[in-house]
Amino acid sequence: MSAVKTEPLQIIPNQPLSWSFYRHNLFSFCKRAYFYHYYGAQSGWDKYSDKRSRALHKLKQIKHFNSWIEELTVKAIQDNLVTPSSRSSRKNKLDAIKNDAYKAIRRQINENNNKEWIDDHKKLCLFETYFNPSKGSEKIIEQAVNKVENAVDNFAKTALFQELSEVNYYQWKAFTPPVYAYVNRMQIWASPSLIWHEKDSLHTLNIKLSEPNKNNKYSLAISAIYLAQRSHIPYEDIQSRTISLSNETTISSGYCSIEDLLQMIFDSAESMRALTSNNKNAYEDNFTKCCDPENCKRCKFIEYCKN
Ligand code: SF4
Repeated sequence: MSAVKTEPLQIIPNQPLSWSFYRHNLFSFCKRAYFYHYYGAQSGWDKYSDKRSRALHKLKQIKHFNSWIEELTVKAIQDNLVTPSSRSSRKNKLDAIKNDAYKAIRRQINENNNKEWIDDHKKLCLFETYFNPSKGSEKIIEQAVNKVENAVDNFAKTALFQELSEVNYYQWKAFTPPVYAYVNRMQIWASPSLIWHEKDSLHTLNIKLSEPNKNNKYSLAISAIYLAQRSHIPYEDIQSRTISLSNETTISSGYCSIEDLLQMIFDSAESMRALTSNNKNAYEDNFTKCCDPENCKRCKFIEYCKN
């Protein structure tokens, strides 16, 4: 990695700033990590791009265990609730969700062990094994399977799961997450897990495997803007919920005020723009390194940053 770091990077962004919670949280976590992710890694998906952007893009794609498991669990739930075969029994659905998730865990850990991400950055590169190669894959598989099993079993005990099992296949709204809406010509992104129609209402659900946090209601508000813009439906006809399938299952309803959300987004985007020159040039040295060593321990870019 040291071979690819020479002078500080100076990048001309290839697209206007768009906003997401991931971006906002990374900006708060460390300005330098934010720079590597959104600017330094730009174009690094292209195998003919320069070595530095390719190396940074590889690091950008690394996933932490908890995000990886949440992503594949939600995908298994989406696939098995929304497809026409969703008319099968609840028990069959639960088994299918778990089986799909277990298969994905084994396949992706296999890809991770074979380092397939070297040539294909979309393949799993897991933070926990990348920075600790001695960590056994069987142990990771066991932890992953337990986490999926707990989450799905907790989900199955809720009235919400019963409600979802009774949604007909034609009520589900087809979409590919993440989705975006426009505010003041800026794209804002969200990742609803499920969307369905019921009489005159649209329902959205976010499924989380982590504890509830204050961003959940903001995230649902972005989904509501997306639905209001795309489906031309009034806000009062959008019903939003988040289910957190951590040790204790919690379900919360509603989203924050749209005005509060937009104010927060505009303030956040303004702070990000302030670090680029006239929003036209991103210079590495303008993005300060954070001073919390605990953040560095959890940072995907540490091997590049500390060289
Ligand atoms: S290693 Fe630390 S200072 Fe460097 S980008 Fe990561 S969090 Fe920031």
